[in-house]
Amino acid sequence: MTVDTLITGGQLVQPDGLLDASIAIAGKEIVAIGSESELPAAHEKIDASGKLVLLGAVDVHVHLDDMFSNDTYETASKAAALGGTTTFVDFAWQAWVGEASIFDEESTLVEGIERKQTKAEDSLIDYSLHGAITRDDLAVFDEFSEMIDRGVTSIKMFTAYEFGLSNGFIDRVFGEAATHDLVAVLHTEDSSVCEVITEQFKREDKGEPEYYPKSRPDYAEAMAADDAITMAMEAGCRYYGIHTTCRKAAEVIEQYRTDNHDMIRAETCTQYTVADDSLFDEVRLLPMAAPPLRKPDDNEAMFEHLDRGTLDVVSTDHCGYTRNQKQVDPWWEGTFGMNSLQRSLPVFHDEAVTSRDFSYPFLVRKLATNPARIFGLANKGTLDPGTHADLVVFDPNKTEPIDPADNASVADFSIYAGREVGVVEKTFVRGDLIIDEGEIVGDLGHGTFVEREIPIWEN
Ligand SMILES: [Zn+2]
Repeated sequence: MTVDTLITGGQLVQPDGLLDASIAIAGKEIVAIGSESELPAAHEKIDASGKLVLLGAVDVHVHLDDMFSNDTYETASKAAALGGTTTFVDFAWQAWVGEASIFDEESTLVEGIERKQTKAEDSLIDYSLHGAITRDDLAVFDEFSEMIDRGVTSIKMFTAYEFGLSNGFIDRVFGEAATHDLVAVLHTEDSSVCEVITEQFKREDKGEPEYYPKSRPDYAEAMAADDAITMAMEAGCRYYGIHTTCRKAAEVIEQYRTDNHDMIRAETCTQYTVADDSLFDEVRLLPMAAPPLRKPDDNEAMFEHLDRGTLDVVSTDHCGYTRNQKQVDPWWEGTFGMNSLQRSLPVFHDEAVTSRDFSYPFLVRKLATNPARIFGLANKGTLDPGTHADLVVFDPNKTEPIDPADNASVADFSIYAGREVGVVEKTFVRGDLIIDEGEIVGDLGHGTFVEREIPIWEN
């Protein structure tokens, strides 16, 4: 037997430890791991000596090609691949009509799935979708079975914005989602608290960027998380808290999780582990997102809770906007979200492993294994033979400063500009090399839609 590719000489990062081993790839799958002498011959041999072989990152929170991002699947998937992300999960919107919407008329969730699948035809990396509910309309429950048949096994809800749902309706959704064993994905900020402060700042003409984070306080995030988790646990619905930013919200999640471990999971994002609200003085509104960047103590809290297991995942909440779109005055005219896909793995590696001495297995658990397991991506985030060869050759020693001129995203800035980080040299998606020596060598359209299973959550 001759396999397609052998990656030799590198240090293989498994979710539970490091191994000096080679890895054999045939077709789209990993077929064996071991010492080179035990493995079959290969058509192509890739020397990863002195480097790490990581699982490709699985980013379960990105915004592509809709009202929250100007990135197309082409630009975003190039950015992702260059940064070592091999699968991402975007949102399929139930179209609504409103100021923040790009839609002319309402649509169903299933139409939202089809709309995104059409947009994703050029994706370089694999992708999946969360269903996103945008209005209090009972008809959506009739779509859950078909949504699951199409491989969409999670449902997103917001407590804020014009497409935020009432607590009463969220309560109903948890009940329906529980009967289908869906994972409910929640953006939690108490809308009325944020709105009243915002209106006050407007009256007082406090339009400078420094006031933006003060308009969406940490306790508003914690309060809404408390409400949402309370309802989810009453309904017996599995709960995934997205973009946890602060100590107060993490403590709420931890408190419920102690009693309901198999029902609650949560993430933070790279930016909430490394950046704080002082950045608004330095780069104005570039990092504006909701919830906002918090305080240095909240960065510490993210690592404490990643370490303790309150937080399972590090994602990006990537949104592709340009500097011009972000730099407006006053801040309430601004746009939420920032680009991060291309820098997430290198920056989180630099912070977690290089600066804070967390292990490489910790890195791949938070970036790949946990998100794949939590969201039912059976062939992703694992090195088991027979699963997809989604791999990254990473050189932690050859560092380079982040230069936004290298962005593949339409976004022409990075909040991490100038930071010295390790280099993603090669990225494989389903066995095919799509990034080589930091250059795109894969074909657009290589990425495919990944149907997700109903996930199993256990300790
Ligand atoms: Zn988001």
